[in-house]
Amino acid sequence: MENAFSDRINDVPKSFIREILKVTIDASIISFAGGLPNRKFFPVKALQKAAFDVFEEAGNEILQYSNSEGYLGLRQFISDRYRQRDGLDIPVEDILITTGSQQGLDLLGKTFLNEGDDLIIEEPGYLGAIQAFAMYRPRFHPVAVSEGGMDTSQLSQVLGERQPKLLYTVTNFQNPSGISYSDANRRAVADQIRGSSCLIIQDDPYGDLRFSGERKVSFKRIVPENTVLLGSFSKTVAPALRLGWMVAPPPIMDKLVIAKQAADLHSDYLAQRILHRYLCDNDIDAHIATIIAQYGKQKEAMISAIKDYFPAAVQFTNPEGGMFLWITLPEGMSSMTLFEAAIKKKVAFVPGTPFYVDRKDSNTLRLNFSCSDEPTIVEGIRRLGASIKELF
Ligand code: PMP
Repeated sequence: MENAFSDRINDVPKSFIREILKVTIDASIISFAGGLPNRKFFPVKALQKAAFDVFEEAGNEILQYSNSEGYLGLRQFISDRYRQRDGLDIPVEDILITTGSQQGLDLLGKTFLNEGDDLIIEEPGYLGAIQAFAMYRPRFHPVAVSEGGMDTSQLSQVLGERQPKLLYTVTNFQNPSGISYSDANRRAVADQIRGSSCLIIQDDPYGDLRFSGERKVSFKRIVPENTVLLGSFSKTVAPALRLGWMVAPPPIMDKLVIAKQAADLHSDYLAQRILHRYLCDNDIDAHIATIIAQYGKQKEAMISAIKDYFPAAVQFTNPEGGMFLWITLPEGMSSMTLFEAAIKKKVAFVPGTPFYVDRKDSNTLRLNFSCSDEPTIVEGIRRLGASIKELF
């Protein structure tokens, strides 16, 4: 049967996280492995009302095929929000509604990557981006990110040796590490990219989930002609809507729309209309404020439990937003071995390995703090601390 499949699909491994999540179905396990927003905050009643209202008012219209670019009202909402939040002037023509920001990654791969093309990815990097781009068989060039942003000397080395078409970044509260690029780091990255043919993809599903610190400058402001933005309603409203967007200048947008048409004609129009109605009738900022308040407390609980229960040699990031933080064990320790020990103590996390393009093992791991309440977080970190001590 193996021969029947394309090289493309044979080369891309199954999502490691999905495999791991199978182990954590056991309800007695405290799981920091998932990457889900907290379901407690889905605006169930308000979405139900929005759905009822649009069915009442425009039932025949909202069930019809629609245009590939997406519902104009929703694109206008996104454009207005960029103006209010970032002072960015983004015309609606530069906005394409996608089936989650995950589809944005696939469309970019389809539009830009030939086999063997060079692509820069963060290390560690978002697993879903590695998987989406791997379908187009590029040559990955990992560049390290840590607290403060991207390693600009590594970046300059890659740019000196290769001509990458794409540079993939998650500049705010990165998945998996929780780190954010400082303004100075963004400017340093932009300085290297400006004038080249490399496109920066700024994937930003977590940017609105900031619980401390200041909002940072967008690549769209400092290097606009080289920037494509990806956004998502998954973490602020609900992931099941599968609605996100991309922002790109006209020549790129023309090609993206072709890729979009070939992929699915358009994103779910019914979902777009319900979401738009929800956004018009409710205060999304008040809703986001509720989410952030809780995630912020959960993050604090995790950080203080880590300080209490982990050996001092273990390093951790302290994110200003988002849903994840990143642990670095002492050199030579294996997070896969730790995973096996931790499961026996009924606590789970994602080992760092799948977030690298070329490693079989690592001393790093990702912890999710959006889905567990504070007492559960403290207990889970206590168990994890005990598992780590066994490895010393
Ligand atoms: N980019 C990043 C960095 C993510 O963490 C995720 C979700 N885990 C996505 C994109 C995809 O999100 P969605 O397709 O739901 O918008």
